[in-house]
Amino acid sequence: MKLIFLGTGTSFGVPQIGCECKVCRSTDPRDKRTRVGAVVQSDGTSLLIDTPPELRLQLIATGVNTVDAVLFTHDHADHTHGLDDIRAISVLRGSPLPMYGPAETISSLREKFPYVFDNTIRAQPGTIKPEGSASALEPGIATRIGALEVVPLAVPHGAMRVFGYRIGPVGYVTDAKLIPDDAIDLLAGVKVLVLNALFHQSHPTHLSFDEAVAVSKRIAAAQTFLTHITHNDAHADLEASLPAGVYPAFDGLQVTVE
Ligand SMILES: [Zn+2]
Ligand SMILES: [Zn+2]
Ligand SMILES: [Zn+2]
Repeated sequence: MKLIFLGTGTSFGVPQIGCECKVCRSTDPRDKRTRVGAVVQSDGTSLLIDTPPELRLQLIATGVNTVDAVLFTHDHADHTHGLDDIRAISVLRGSPLPMYGPAETISSLREKFPYVFDNTIRAQPGTIKPEGSASALEPGIATRIGALEVVPLAVPHGAMRVFGYRIGPVGYVTDAKLIPDDAIDLLAGVKVLVLNALFHQSHPTHLSFDEAVAVSKRIAAAQTFLTHITHNDAHADLEASLPAGVYPAFDGLQVTVE
């Protein structure tokens, strides 16, 4: 199984518009962070997690030419507003791209992007629109997508519910404020864990670095990667400060999992 990090930055992205801080001016390519998304590939099936605003650029940069489905974590703009870019994929497959997520995320996306989901809305002659077919999932209930079994798990993000996903040996959780016990149970035994972590300070809707490290110790995956990182911390400094087995992810990072 291969896990590809498309984007690893917080909602502002790094560099942040108008900011002249040390990290925003860094020449380390790992300090250029687009909004959060990932691809998991195994046995001929490729799953996209979220459609961030830079999706087209991210898929081209990582050489991902198509995916078989999209798993949405939640409908915040930094995770969904690249949805239009699936047009190239739905055209290539010649059929709507299957999409999954929490029921409230699916209904919100149907409202915001009706032209993607409503096949009574036809594209103007000579134009092509993105086509998706959306289904709601339930936490703890496994779904088979192609060759992969996907188990959603629910985590709180402030007042909102977000889905993380377990896909075989990989657990991917972003925009969590904490990981409840039932989600910890669903993640037990993963080899690679992805967690959101904003910065050192506490935040009302996201894990901090210390909180993410504590979760990582409970789940005890061989490798934990942090994502959704802000311009507060340079990649190299963060990497040096984390305990063994916990790493900051970066855009384009590919992890192979046996
Ligand atoms: Zn900055
Ligand atoms: Zn969010
Ligand atoms: Zn986010």
